Amino acid sequence: MIPVKGVEGRKVAVLGLGRSGLAAARALAAGGAETVLWDDSPESRAKAEAEGFATTDLGRDAAWTGIELLVTSPGIPHLYPQPNRHILKALELGVPVDNDIGLFFRSWADRAWDGFDVMPKVVAVTGSNGKSTTTALIHHILEQAGRPTQMAGNIGRGVLDIEPAQDGEVVVLELSSYQTDLARALTPDIAVFTNLSPDHLDRHGGMGGYFAAKRRLFAEGGPDRAVVGIDETEGLYLAGQLSMGPADDRVIRVSSARRIEGEGWSVFARKGFLAEWRKGRQVASIDLRPIAGLPGAHNHQNACAAYAATRALGLAPKVIEAALASFAGLPHRSQTVGTRAGVRFVNDSKATNVDSAAKALQAFPKIRWIAGGLGKDGGIAALWEHLGTVSKAYLIGHSARDFALQLGDTPHEICETLDVAVARAAAEAKEGEVVLLAPAAASFDQFPNFEKRGEAFMDLVRALPGIALP
Ligand code: ADP
Repeated sequence: MIPVKGVEGRKVAVLGLGRSGLAAARALAAGGAETVLWDDSPESRAKAEAEGFATTDLGRDAAWTGIELLVTSPGIPHLYPQPNRHILKALELGVPVDNDIGLFFRSWADRAWDGFDVMPKVVAVTGSNGKSTTTALIHHILEQAGRPTQMAGNIGRGVLDIEPAQDGEVVVLELSSYQTDLARALTPDIAVFTNLSPDHLDRHGGMGGYFAAKRRLFAEGGPDRAVVGIDETEGLYLAGQLSMGPADDRVIRVSSARRIEGEGWSVFARKGFLAEWRKGRQVASIDLRPIAGLPGAHNHQNACAAYAATRALGLAPKVIEAALASFAGLPHRSQTVGTRAGVRFVNDSKATNVDSAAKALQAFPKIRWIAGGLGKDGGIAALWEHLGTVSKAYLIGHSARDFALQLGDTPHEICETLDVAVARAAAEAKEGEVVLLAPAAASFDQFPNFEKRGEAFMDLVRALPGIALP
C-alpha cells in the first residue's frame, strides 16, 4: 500500500466504496487522515463497515463540517450528464475533488529513494482501445528484462494498493478517461496515448470533452517522454502540440497505418513489421507476424506503443523483441485457446462493440465468426466492410436475428447459444481457418459479464476431442 501524503490530521471524505474507494480509504487512514466514508449503496457500505470503517451520510449537511477534500470513484459522474449530488455539494462548498490517481501521484515519491541508484518511474497508458493490452505488454517486457515492475490502475489493482517502490522500479498504470479527467496530480514520467474513437461520450459532454480528459495526462510540466498514436487526427494534433519541431524526440510518434521516417523518433508497423526510426535512420525492425499473442494490426499498434515506451526507458531493441515474442495475450482479447487440425480457436469476448469486433475480423484471413449477445445501437451495420474474411457467422443471444438480417450474403446460422455455436463452427471449420468469438455485443443477456462469456467459450473449446492447448 502507498500511504497518502499530506493528509495527516485532515478530514477527507471518500465517496464510492468499491475497490478503488476502499483502497483510497485505507491509504488515507495509513497517511493519518480522518476519513468520512459514504456510498449510496447499502451493500457497499456494509463491506466497508465489515472492514472496521464507520460510514457517514454525506447527504446530511452537518457531515461536511471540516471536510478538506473529497475523493471519488471513476464510476460516479462528476460533471456530465450531471454531477452526482454529493460531488455537487463539494463543488458548492469549494471542497477540492480528487481521486485515487491524484492521491497516488502526490504520494508516490519517497525519502527512501535518496538511497536508490536508479529513480523509480511511472508509465501511464490511456486511449480508447488497447489500454489493457499495452499496459500488460509494457509490464511483461520489463519483467522479461529483469526490471522490477508493478502494474495497476484500470487493469485490476488499485493504484494505492501497490507496494512502495524498489530501486529502479517501473510502475505501469492503465488510466481511463474518467480517471484522468478528475485527478488533481498527473505526473507520469512516460505517458502513452494509444488511439481515440468515440466512447463514454455522455460522461464527457461529447468527443471534445473525452479527448480533453485524456489529454490531461500530457499537460504541460507532465511527462518527460510522450508516446502518441497518430492514426487519428486527435493524436496527430496532440503529438504536434507537445513537440517543439519535427526533430523533437520527447515525443515518440506511433502508427499502424503509415510509415513515419522524419527527423524525430517514431515506431510504426507496416505489413506485420515493426520499425523504429530516429533522426532520419532506421534503428530496428521486428517481424510481429509470428507472435501468436499479438494478432492483427490493432495488436501491432499496441506492440509499437509498448516498444516505444520501453525504448524510452532505455531497453535495447533485442531485449524488447525477445519479450514481445513470449507475450501470451490477455485473457478474452485475441486469446488463442487451442488448435485442432490446423484450425485455431480465438477468444475475443472483450470485443463488446463494433469497433473492437472490426479489428478482430481484420486480424485473421479466414474466420468462422461467433457473434451476438445484447446488441448495441446500430447493430453490426458498420461491420459490413469487414465481412470479407468471414466464411460463416454463428449467431447467438438476443441480437442473433437482428445480426442475421444485417449480414446479407455472408453465410450465417442462428445457433442461439454458445455451446451450439462452438460445436457447429468446430465441425465446419477447415484447415487454416480461425474460429473466433468476437461478439460485437454485450454479454448480459446470457452471461454475467464478458469474462464469464469468454470462460464458457474456453471451456467448450478445451472439451473438443483432439484439441491441442497452447
Ligand atoms: P482497453 O483496455 O482500452 O479496453 P483492451 O486491450 O482491453 O483495451 O482491448 C479491448 C478490445 O479492443 C479487445 O476486443 C481488443 O481485441 C481490441 N483492441 C485491442 N487493442 C486495440 C487497438 N489498438 N485498437 C483497437 N482495438 C483494440
